[in-house]
Amino acid sequence: MSSPETVSVVIPVFNEKENLPELLERCLKTCRSMGRPFELVLVDDGSRDGSTDMLEKAAGEHPGEVVSVILNRNYGQHNAIMAGFAHARGGIIITLDADLQNPPEEIPRLVKTIDEGHDVVGTIRVNRQDSFFRRLSSLMVNRMTARVTGIKMRDYGCMLRAYRRQIVQAMLQCQERSTFIPVLANSFAKRTAEVEVGHSERRAGTSKYSLWKLLNLQFDLLTSMTTLPLRLLSVIGVLVSMLGVGFGVMILVMRFIRGSEWAAQGVFTLFAILFIFVGAQFVAMGLLGEYIGRTYVDVRARPRYFIRQVAGKSTLAE
Ligand code: UDP
Ligand code: MG
Repeated sequence: MSSPETVSVVIPVFNEKENLPELLERCLKTCRSMGRPFELVLVDDGSRDGSTDMLEKAAGEHPGEVVSVILNRNYGQHNAIMAGFAHARGGIIITLDADLQNPPEEIPRLVKTIDEGHDVVGTIRVNRQDSFFRRLSSLMVNRMTARVTGIKMRDYGCMLRAYRRQIVQAMLQCQERSTFIPVLANSFAKRTAEVEVGHSERRAGTSKYSLWKLLNLQFDLLTSMTTLPLRLLSVIGVLVSMLGVGFGVMILVMRFIRGSEWAAQGVFTLFAILFIFVGAQFVAMGLLGEYIGRTYVDVRARPRYFIRQVAGKSTLAE
C-alpha cells in the first residue's frame, strides 16, 4: 500500500483568544497520535482581541506543525477557510471551528472515512447544543440544500468536515466572492458520507454570528446554489397574465348573459387588462433575470465539470 495521505486541519479564528490554548493542545495531541504527516493551518480572520499574536507565537513554537495565515481584516468564516485551503498542503483537508463545539478528537475518524474512498465526509451533530431558532433555520437549510444539490446530507451546518484534496482544489478554482463551503464541496463530490459527532456548548466567548450575519449567510447559501428566484419572476408573470385573460373572458361571457349592468360598467374590464399588463411586466423582469442569472453563473467561473478519476491509459504518444 502507498504511504497514508497527509492531513491538513484548517481552522478559522475570529476573536477566540480564550479557546486557542486548549484548541491547539487538543488538535496537536490528536494529530500527533494519528501517525501520519499533518499540519494545522490557522487562519486569523481579522481578530482584534490578541488572537493574532497568539497564532503567530504558536507558529513559532511548533515549526512544521502549525501554519498561521493572518488576514488583514474580517472576511467571514467561509472566506477565511478558503484562505486556509489555499495554504493547505495535505492530501486530506479537515475543517474545524475554533470554539471547540466539535471535538478535535473526531479528526481520526473523519480521516479514516476518507481513506475508505469518500470524497467528502460531513458530520451530524448529535444532541446539538444550540438555540431552538438556530436548529429550526438549520433544518430548513438542510432540506432546501438537499433538494437543489441532489446530495442528501442531514447536517450542512456543521463545519467539522473532511475533504479530499481534489475537491478543495476545485473549490479554489471557483471565482465567486460569497460561498458556502459545504454546499460548494458537494457539487464536486461523488461519494459522500456522514458520521455522527458529539456537540457541546461553546467553550468560551460568544457566537460570532449576529442575526444579520446569519441572514447574510443564508442568502449566500441560496444564491450560491441556484438562480431559481430569478426564474420565478417569469413564472409569476405568466400566471398573472393568464389570470387576467381568464378574468377578461369571464367578464365577456357574463356580460352576454347578464347584460351591461353586470361588471360595474367596465371597471372589472380594466382590472382584467391591468392583470395582463402587470403579468407582462413580470415576464419582462424575468427575462432580464434570466440574463442576470446567466451572467452570474459565468462570472463565478466554477469549473465546468469535475473529473474524479480517469481509468485506463492510452498507448498513443502525447
Ligand atoms: N469565524 C470567523 N469569521 C467570522 C465569524 C466566525 O473566522 O466572521 C469563525 C469563528 O472563530 C469560529 C467559527 O468561525 O471558529 C464558527 O463561528 P461560531 O462558533 O461563532 O459560529 P456558531 O457556532 O455560532 O455557528
Ligand atoms: Mg460555534
